[in-house]
Amino acid sequence: MSVETKVEYEIVIGLEIHAELSTESKVFCGCRTTFGADPNSLVCPVCLGLPGSLPVLNRKAVEYAIKAGLALNCEIARYSKFDRKQYFYPDLPKAYQISQYDLPLCRNGWVEFEINGEVRRVGINRVHLEEEAGKSVHSGERLLGSEYSLIDYNRGGIPLIEIVTEPDLRSPEEARVFLEQLRQILLFTGVSDVKMEEGSLRCDANISLRPKGSTKFGAKTEVKNLNSFRSVQRALEYEAQRQREVLESGGTLYQETRHWDENRGVTVAMRSKEEAHDYRYFPEPDLVPLVVDEAWIERLRAELPELPRARQARFVEQYGLPRYDAEVLTTSPQLADFFEACVAEYGQAKPVSNWIMGEFLRLLKAEGKAVEQVQVSPKGLADLLRLIDQGVINANVGKEVFEEMFHTGKEPGAIVKERGLEQISDTAALAAIVDQVIAANPDAADNVRNGEMKAIGFLIGQVMKQTGGKANPKVVQALLRERLLGG
Ligand SMILES: [Zn+2]
Repeated sequence: MSVETKVEYEIVIGLEIHAELSTESKVFCGCRTTFGADPNSLVCPVCLGLPGSLPVLNRKAVEYAIKAGLALNCEIARYSKFDRKQYFYPDLPKAYQISQYDLPLCRNGWVEFEINGEVRRVGINRVHLEEEAGKSVHSGERLLGSEYSLIDYNRGGIPLIEIVTEPDLRSPEEARVFLEQLRQILLFTGVSDVKMEEGSLRCDANISLRPKGSTKFGAKTEVKNLNSFRSVQRALEYEAQRQREVLESGGTLYQETRHWDENRGVTVAMRSKEEAHDYRYFPEPDLVPLVVDEAWIERLRAELPELPRARQARFVEQYGLPRYDAEVLTTSPQLADFFEACVAEYGQAKPVSNWIMGEFLRLLKAEGKAVEQVQVSPKGLADLLRLIDQGVINANVGKEVFEEMFHTGKEPGAIVKERGLEQISDTAALAAIVDQVIAANPDAADNVRNGEMKAIGFLIGQVMKQTGGKANPKVVQALLRERLLGG
C-alpha cells in the first residue's frame, strides 16, 4: 500500500507600496501637483529633464516622508542620499528616476493590524523618497493593441514614497487587510490622499510558496496592476493557486513579473524580473546628501496625529462604543472628528454613532461625497436628536429631516416648522383617527380582539398613513389597545 503524502505549502507575501505625497508642488521643481489639470500644463524644464536644468529638493516632501516613516515606526536616517535609477521608458523624460538606493530615509519599522481577532505585525524594511513618472495614455484599452500612446508629464516629478514590507504576510486576505491598515495610517498622518482609483496609492506584490516549516524562500513572482484592495486579494489568491499547481505537478517556478488581468481574473507573465544591477544605480550628482537633525525629527514626531488603531481603542474606552462602531467611525480622520464634535454637542455617544453609521453614511455613499463636503453641522445633528428625544418628531420623520439637513445645511427646528412635521401626540386628535381606522378595518380589529397582535401593527400603519407619518406611535398603540382590548 502506498501512502500519498501531500506537501503543505506556506504562502509568503511582501508588498511594495507607492504613495504620492500631497504636497502643493513637485519634489524637485515648483510645478503644481493638481490632479486632473490639462495634459502637460504643469511642467517645466526640471521635470521635463531639459538639458541644463537642476533639481532642488522640496522640504515639505522630505517632512511628509519622515512623518510617514515615523507613523510606520521606522528609524529615520540622519544621513541619506539620492540615486539615479536608469531605465528607458517614454514616461520618464530624463531616462532615469531620482530615487534612493542604498541609504533610504527610513528603515526598520513595523505596522500592526488585526485579522480574525488576532493582532499581526508586519515589518517595514524601508521607506524612501523618489519622484513620480509621467502617465502614458493609450489609444486603446491598454498598450497592447493600441495605435498610439500619448504622454502626460503633469504627474512626472510629484513626490512619491515607496514603502517596502518584509515578507511577513501569510495569506492574500492578510495582504489586503494590511494594505487597508497602511492606507488608513497614511490618511490619518495627512501625507497622502491615498486614492487607489486615482493612482495616488499603488501596490505591487511579491509572492512565493515554500513547504511549511522551511526557512528558505521559493522563487517569487512580482504581481503588478493591482488597482483595488479587492484585486490585491484576488490576484494573490490566483497566483498562490497557480504556483501550487506548478509545484505539485513537479514543475519549476522562475522569478518573474506578472500582470494581473482584472477582467479575466488571471496573472500573465510580462518579463523576467529585473535585478537591482539592471538599473545601474549611481549617486545623483545634482543633489547634496540629505542630512536630518534630531530636533527636526522630534518636531515632526510631535505633529503626528492620533493614529487609527489608537483612536479606535480610545473610542471603545472613552465612549463605551462597540468595536465595530469604533472601526467604522475611524475610516477617515474627518469622520472621526465629526463624530467627536457631535458627541461634544449632544452628550451621548451611542445614539450619535447610530445616526452617523446609519443615515449619514448611507447618504454620503448614495451621493458619492466625503464628510467634509456636506453641510450638516455637529450642532444640527445634536438638535435633531433632541427633537426626537423630546417627542417633537418621531424617528422616521427624523430621517426625512436629516436628509434635508444633509442637502441644505438648514437647522432641523426650522425644517420641522416649515414643513409642519411636528409629531401628533394629542390624544383627542388621534382618537378620532383611530376610531375611523377601526371602523374601516373590521377584520383586523377582530384579529386584535382575538389576541393576534400582528394585526395591531397593521392598524398602527393605517393611522400613520392617515397622518402623513406624523402620529406618535406610542400614543396610537395605547389608543388601539384601550379600544380593542379594554386597556
Ligand atoms: Zn516642473
